This record gives sequence, C-alpha cells and structure tokens, in this order.
Amino acid sequence: MGTSGRQACAAVVTVGALSLAAACGFSPRMPNPSPPTFAIVTSTPTTSTPTTSTPTTIATNPSTPGPTAPIPPSLVGHVVSRIPTSRKVVALTFDAGANGDGVNSILATLAKEKVAATFYLTGDFVDSFPTLAVRMSAAGRLGNHTADHLHLPTLTDAQVRTEVTSAQTTILRVTGEDPRPLFRFPFGDSGPRDLHLVNDLGYIAVGWTVDTLGWQGTSGGRSVNSVVQRVLAAATQGEIVLMHVGSNPTDHSTLDADALPRVISGLRAAGYSFATLDALGAG
Ligand SMILES: [Zn+2]
Repeated sequence: MGTSGRQACAAVVTVGALSLAAACGFSPRMPNPSPPTFAIVTSTPTTSTPTTSTPTTIATNPSTPGPTAPIPPSLVGHVVSRIPTSRKVVALTFDAGANGDGVNSILATLAKEKVAATFYLTGDFVDSFPTLAVRMSAAGRLGNHTADHLHLPTLTDAQVRTEVTSAQTTILRVTGEDPRPLFRFPFGDSGPRDLHLVNDLGYIAVGWTVDTLGWQGTSGGRSVNSVVQRVLAAATQGEIVLMHVGSNPTDHSTLDADALPRVISGLRAAGYSFATLDALGAG
C-alpha cells in the first residue's frame, strides 16, 4: 500500500499547497530557544503489570526509553498497510502537523467512547503544541512523523536519520513517550533506502488501509458523510484508518474530528473493536 500513500500525496499536490499543508502537516517552525538539558526519563519503572506478551510482540512500555524489541521480520522492508490479524479490530490513526484544531474534539470523543488511538506527531507539532502532545500521549499511542515533514527520498542518509531521531528526541522529551517502533513517512513518500534507514533505527513504517480524505475539507468536496462512508467501505480485519487532527486551512473544517463519533459507532455496529498500533506484531 505504499503506492496508496503516493497516490494520496499526489492528490494533495494537485489540490494545492494549502491543502497539502493540511494533509501532511507543514507548520511554521517555532523557535526553541533553549536546548533540552534534562527531562529525558532514563529510569526503568520498578513495577509493572503482568504481561502476556509473546516473543513476537513488539509493544513496549511507552514510558520506557531505550532499545525496543526487534521488529518482526514480516514488518521489515515494506510499508505496513494493515495490522496482520484475523480479528475484527481497527486502528484509528491521526497525523498531526499543521495545527491542532481538532484535537479537543477528538480526545473528547475517544474518552467518551473509551477508544484509544495512535497519533503520528512531527517534532514541529510537539514543539508548537506541547500540551496537546502530552494529552494525545495519554489518549493512546504516539508515533514518529519526522521532525519537519520533508520528502525523505530527497534527503541524504544522514538527513533522513536526523529527521527521525530528532523527532524521537523531541517527542520523548516533551511527552515522556518513546515513539518507537511506530513511524509514518511524510506524504507516504518513501523508497527502499528510506525504508531500510527507518527500519534500522528501530521503526516499523506504517501506512494505512484507507485515507478518509477528511483533510481535503468541505472546500475539497468532502463531508462527514464521505469520511464515514470511506472508513466503513474499507472495513476489514486490522484496518488502519488515516485521519488528521488539524483543520483544513482554507475552510477551517475539521471533518475527521466531526466524523469520529459516527466512524466509531459505525465500525462497532459492524462488529469491530479498536486497537492502537501496539497491536502490530501481536498476531
Ligand atoms: Zn503528514
């Protein structure tokens, strides 16, 4: 499904720079006057709840930095577009970048429905909206969406690594959560080299089963109905749903946030439950 990412991003480009920003999360870089000098949690919790993790489970204690478990070989070398499972579970994922206009609504819905989601954050977003980032961490699982949301295939190896590790450091410093092993390419844009680099840094490249296209906004012909219908039409075991937390910069609509209650109720009516992407690798 790496191609679906490219198609989605190609669609973005044709809509224009503003919509592209809405979809993929360019945000003005906020000055960060003081480099981090502390607050990276290095202690290992001394208590833990019993776990039923199997050796292939990649889920990690999100508050524990450091090396993560090896990535299952089946999740290396390609963009994962579905949780490999035979159970009727769906992962709701939200990319964050341009703004956080839909976050309050999304978090309220998730809390009300007792559903956890996965949030892919750029370092820029976390620097700009640290309080939102902390709240999103508490509402599910965080993933790495690079520092600056660039097209990674255009960068050098060193630049790609820096984009990934810089975001990881920022997310961990601000939220206390290590985003590994969850990574999503900006614009869904990647080549074999980029996959190798992010895999080598301990990440699974996660794409999506369906893009709601809510980021296109009402000005792009989208609606709450169209968002809900796209999710339900693509419903399958392990479906990964791509949504965005921001508003469309042209029309200020927050269709993904607005559609979320109906997305959840519709999937539940079809027999689905919800998982974060920690479920990747759990079988
Ligand atoms: Zn993005």
